Amino acid sequence: MSASAAIQEMEQNYTSGVYTKRDVVIVRGSGAKLWDADGNEYIDCVGGHGAANVGHAHPRVAQAVAEQARQLITCPEIFYNDRRAELERRLCLVTGMGRVFLCNSGTEAVEAAFKFARLITGRKEIIAAMRGFHGRTFGALSATWEKKYRAPFEPLLPGVRHVPYNDPSALQEAVSAETAAVILEAVQGEGGVNPADAEFLHTAQKVCRQHGALLILDEVQTGFGRTGKMFAFEHYAIQPDLLCVAKSIAGGLPMGAALLRAELGKLPGHVHGSTFGGNPLACAAALAALDVLEDEHLPQRAEELGGWFRARLAEIDSPLVREVRGLGLMVGVELRCKAAPYLQALMAHGVLALPAGMTVMRFLPPLVIAQQDLQKVVESVQSVLAAPISTAEGE
Ligand SMILES: *Cc1c(COP(=O)(O)O)cnc(C)c1O
Repeated sequence: MSASAAIQEMEQNYTSGVYTKRDVVIVRGSGAKLWDADGNEYIDCVGGHGAANVGHAHPRVAQAVAEQARQLITCPEIFYNDRRAELERRLCLVTGMGRVFLCNSGTEAVEAAFKFARLITGRKEIIAAMRGFHGRTFGALSATWEKKYRAPFEPLLPGVRHVPYNDPSALQEAVSAETAAVILEAVQGEGGVNPADAEFLHTAQKVCRQHGALLILDEVQTGFGRTGKMFAFEHYAIQPDLLCVAKSIAGGLPMGAALLRAELGKLPGHVHGSTFGGNPLACAAALAALDVLEDEHLPQRAEELGGWFRARLAEIDSPLVREVRGLGLMVGVELRCKAAPYLQALMAHGVLALPAGMTVMRFLPPLVIAQQDLQKVVESVQSVLAAPISTAEGE
């Protein structure tokens, strides 16, 4: 039995089962490369679902984590902490926001934003977008569109409605004096890599201000350089009232944050909290990740390499391709058929990538990826799309 097979068998015996797993055991990473338990190498365009923007096992993140682990691993927010203070300052500096609530995941950042929006406005209603994804805990799930995530767990949060994405007049019509918040992704990730039209986000900001509702931007996937700017909202010249981030915030360690615009002021005590929120180990990792993003100019790299990558993908002459789209190194290739068998075939070429919905191949490589590795990804995509794969298998 291979090393991989033994590990797979053990995990299969004990895992909850909620994840559909690929037939590969990942044990090591460096930059944009991953290795399986049998020593096979992969080019990683999954990027930890977008958590690995600075690359796997970045030496500066690893060193910061090791040093902090010897200093102090845990420290609840009833105390002040040096690493946390510095991170909160840095996060406000890079986002233009005024205050930070630290948590441990994207869905928690969304939960916090919803609670804060209700608290600040005294209203209950939340408007979200069709095909949006905001997480899987009950509040965030209520704003998530995909039926298969929601249906088994209903009833969900009342007062959450969905409007078509990129439809400014539908949004205008939905927002009223009852609306606590509008939550949107600047580029929908799970929903198919759909960038927002500028007019849509400008309308969102305008109607929220008109009606005293808060604009929540969910930049959990688009944040920290992914789209070619530190945050995707910079492309659109808007400023959210609440900003949700997570995924790549801490170089791959679990962390999330809900940031508030300075004008919203300080929240009252005791209204929310988290045992691990603001954990010094995660804060140290996040500070190191921010240093890497800035010192290695990774947003700019995502912009340049992303443009090049999308142009090369668009040159692939295949009747299977409907559209290539994205922003920076958040890239989707929409097929005219199911994406799963082609992602499976890509893995056989040593390229790991993600689906987004049924028909989109999604690429979220670490922003440090070498151009020649992206070139190999293009060649592999071209090769797997050279002929249709029957969908009977591979699903
Ligand atoms: C992944 C994601 C989430 C949820 O983050 P988790 O850390 O998995 O809870 C929320 N919003 C967006 C846009 C995401 O991509």
